[in-house]
Parts: sequence; structure tokens; C-alpha cells
Amino acid sequence: MAFRRSVRQWVERELTPHAVEWDRSGSFPREIFRQAGELGFLGTNHDPAYGGSGLDYWYVTAFTEELTRSRNAGVNMALLVQSQMATPIIGAIGTDEQKRSFLEPALRGERIAALGISEPSAGSDVAAMKTTARRQGDEFVVNGSKMWITNGTRADFVTLGARTGGEGHGGVSLFTFPTDVKGFSVSKKLDKVGNLSSDTAILYFEDCRIPARYLLGEENEGFYHIMTNFQGERLTAAIGAVAGMELMVADAIDFGRQREAFGRPILKFQVWRHKLVEHLTAIEAARRLTYHAVDLFERREDPVKEISMAKLFAGDLIQKVAYDCQQLYGGMGYIDETPIARAWRDARLLTIGGGTSEIMKEIISKLVGL
Ligand SMILES: Cc1cc2nc3c(=O)[nH]c(=O)nc-3n(C[C@H](O)[C@H](O)[C@H](O)COP(=O)(O)OP(=O)(O)OC[C@H]3O[C@@H](n4cnc5c(N)ncnc54)[C@H](O)[C@@H]3O)c2cc1C
Repeated sequence: MAFRRSVRQWVERELTPHAVEWDRSGSFPREIFRQAGELGFLGTNHDPAYGGSGLDYWYVTAFTEELTRSRNAGVNMALLVQSQMATPIIGAIGTDEQKRSFLEPALRGERIAALGISEPSAGSDVAAMKTTARRQGDEFVVNGSKMWITNGTRADFVTLGARTGGEGHGGVSLFTFPTDVKGFSVSKKLDKVGNLSSDTAILYFEDCRIPARYLLGEENEGFYHIMTNFQGERLTAAIGAVAGMELMVADAIDFGRQREAFGRPILKFQVWRHKLVEHLTAIEAARRLTYHAVDLFERREDPVKEISMAKLFAGDLIQKVAYDCQQLYGGMGYIDETPIARAWRDARLLTIGGGTSEIMKEIISKLVGL
């Protein structure tokens, strides 16, 4: 399809050539957000009234799949946080003002968005978050900190979870939080194992005053909205994992055809052909499960079980696929410039970020009545 082709052309022209350089510098130019916005890649499934294209989720799927060709998981994650993790909830429940001030410029790639849910002592256990937002007149005063926040060092706003009520999930609200507010600071840029070109930060809030109208949705209903929002995040993780695995195996096949040992191409050894065939089979299963979840998501049918299964299955599978593909490369698989070396390192995030594999199992357990 034409959309997929235009994403691929942009990715291969503007992103892929810089994959190693951006990982080494720990960042990528802000201009990339703007380019993606101008091309309509950030607003694919968003409301046309606020700068989106109003397309269905299969376009998001195509965008996410083609992004993997950048060979740089950090830039992919940053763009997906911008378009599919920090902003959909604003489109779904925001006021017209919130959509104009936060969503629209984010979809144009002019304002960088982050999603601020996790905290130093509350990751999986979202309902345990401690950051508070106390109402004072027509303002909220925010205090606390957020941890592991993607796009965190340069975000212009954060879609922020904070405690407005009592303990537990019933006391959490969401906000659109502009980062130019007094008392806000980036306390640290975190050094990570992978996804190196993406900035991940600890954010600090000290008596930050924001207008009460920046409350996103109803007060104390944030937990429910966060859980809804997680579905898109987990689905893009599964889609990206499947597309990433396909690239890994395709690269390994190319390498195995060319690299010789003991007088024959590596791929002629049955052990490698069988291993790759096993992976191709499992990847196909992961893809079918993921597409089934996309289909349910797109048709607004309850997709939570299937999305959790897709993230769990694809996130776990990519660990094995990356390991074996890297092994096939021998020493070249340990060299930073070889895409599989970086992909192996980056793939580790997929059982951790956006809800761990254990949390996916907990969700599925509940949904199947265990
Ligand atoms: C690179 C990166 C980017 C991220 N980006 C963002 C972002 O943009 N915004 C954001 O809000 N967050 C972000 N996160 C945070 C991420 O979502 C959390 O790290 C993740 O949800 C896990 O939380 P935790 O690290 O606190 O682990 P914990 O919750 O402390 O879990 C530690 C271990 O215990 C296990 N565990 C926890 N509960 C259970 C249970 N009930 N049963 C069995 N095992 C359990 C976990 O599975 C895990 O193995 C990011 C993280 C990383 C690493």
C-alpha cells in the first residue's frame, strides 16, 4: 500500500543511515519528530479535527512495522510514545483546549510528548503511585517524581498520572502537564542497556502549579484511563517485536548464505536451517495472534486478553530469536555495527517495558478465571 511505501522510504532515507551514530550519541535530532508529523505519520489514527488523518489501526500497524527498518529501536520507541502512547488518551477524553494545546502540536511533531506513569517505587503496581496533585482553588499543585520516562529530557508536556484522592487505584487522576512550569526538573538522564538513542529520564515535581482545567478526564478516574491507554502501547510493542523478528531472521539468512565455514555456507548446516525454520514458524504464530488483537482493537471489541497474550508471546519469543540470530553471526554478532548486536540488546526491553511478562500473565490469568 502507498502509505507503507512512503513510511519505508522515509525510514530508509532519514533514519536507517544514522542508526549507529544516534545510538552512540544517545539522542537523535528533534527535527525527526517534525518530519514524521509533517508526513502525517504521527497522526494516522487520530481525529482529523485535531490534525490527525482518521485512518484505522492497520495504518498504525504498517507504520510500526516499517519503523523497525530504522534498525534503531530508540527512535522507534520515541516516535511511538509521541503518537500512540502519550497522546491517544488526550484525543479520547481531553477537552477541546487540551486537544488544541497538547494533542495538535504533538501530532505535528512540534511539541514533544511523554507519558509519566511509572515512579521509583511504583512500576507494575500503578495504583501505588505516590506523586500527588492537590487542588488549590483553580489550580493543582503537583509534587513527586516519575521514573524511566521516555522522551523525558526534552518533553514539552507529560501526560501525567498523579494521586488526587486516597490510596489505591480510585485516587489516581490524569493531567496534561506542561514542562515549562516552575518547580519541574529533569533530575537525571538514565544510562540504559539498549534503546540508546531514546532519552529516558527521572522527572521531579516540586510544588508545580498547573491550571485545574489541565485535569484529563474525570478526577480520580485516571487508573481506568491508564489501563485503557496501556492497550495501544502493548499492541505496538507486539507489532514491533514481530516485525523486528522477521528482520532478524531475514538478515541471518543472508549472512548464513554468505559466511562459510568448513567449506560450506553456514546455512547449509542443518542445525541452522532447522533453528531458523522453528523461529519462522513461531514468528508466523506471533504475527497471527498480534493481527487478531489488532482486529479486535480496531473493531472496538474487548481486546485485553489477546493484546496481553500477543505482548507476552512476542516479547518472550524475540529473546530467543535475537539470541539465535546473533549466535549465527559468530563474532560479527558481537560488533555494535552489526544490526543484530544492537537488536539483541534492544529486544531485552520487550519483556519489561509497558507491562512486564509477569504482569501480562497476571492479567491473562484473571481474564481466563484462574
Ligand atoms: C527503557 C524504558 C522506557 C520506559 N518508558 C516509560 C515511559 O515512557 N513511561 C512510563 O510511565 N514508564 C516507562 N517505563 C517503565 C516501565 O513501564 C516499568 O519499568 C515496568 O512497568 C516495570 O515496572 P518496574 O520497573 O517498577 O518493575 P517492578 O514492578 O518493580 O517489578 C520487578 C519485577 O517483579 C515482577 N513483578 C511485579 N509484580 C509482580 C506480580 N504481581 N507477580 C509476579 N511478578 C511481579 C516484575 O514482572 C518484574 O520482573 C520504561 C521502562 C524502561 C526500562
